[in-house]
Amino acid sequence: TVTIGILALQGAFAEHQTRLQNLRLKRKITTVLVKTPEDLQRCDALIIPGGESTTIALLARLSGLLEPLKAFIYTKPVWGTCAGAILLSQSVTNAKKDGQELLGGVSVDIARNGWGSQVESFEAPLDVNGLHESSVPFIGIFIRAPVVLALAPDAPIQVIARLPPHLLPEPADDENDPRTIVALRQGLHLLTTFHPELTPDDRFHDYFARKCVFTTVPTV
Ligand code: GLN
Repeated sequence: TVTIGILALQGAFAEHQTRLQNLRLKRKITTVLVKTPEDLQRCDALIIPGGESTTIALLARLSGLLEPLKAFIYTKPVWGTCAGAILLSQSVTNAKKDGQELLGGVSVDIARNGWGSQVESFEAPLDVNGLHESSVPFIGIFIRAPVVLALAPDAPIQVIARLPPHLLPEPADDENDPRTIVALRQGLHLLTTFHPELTPDDRFHDYFARKCVFTTVPTV
């Protein structure tokens, strides 16, 4: 089996664990809630949940997890959702005044609270490239979600889901506007600006297992 950890310092970690536990009928997965460097050592892959990115980074520092997480991301599959997507990004626009510690791993610039404060939360049906039963849209739940502002020019990034451009905070016509990107992959990493763990639909967790984890982690 493979061990998928969920960073459990703050935020929606329990919901991710529920989704992964539902998958256990289909896939050989064990889950671990990661609160210490020792927990992280047991993991083959990691999910960084949504919550509040500044708080998660601060707690990671206090728990001695900041450097181990950076090293982990260098070699293992990691999926960041919402606040976790911010932490996985290379740079952030709109960080809190005291700054925002990032883990990096994905070559994007991302805007924290990119939808502004008046539109704090919304749902949108998403067509996701590579999801099972892809004719059935995945309901994306966006809660004070970040917005992808730019991709590094040569990064091997694969876009897997976009919003229609008219839904952007400043509506645009260009379907290729980077701000429409709500899910992407780069190497071993997956980034989603919404919360797939809050929908009773395990397909995104299955996607992470299939595309990022089981393709790279030798199973025993
Ligand atoms: N706005 C939050 C942050 O900056 C992210 C929100 C979320 O994870 N739902 O971290």
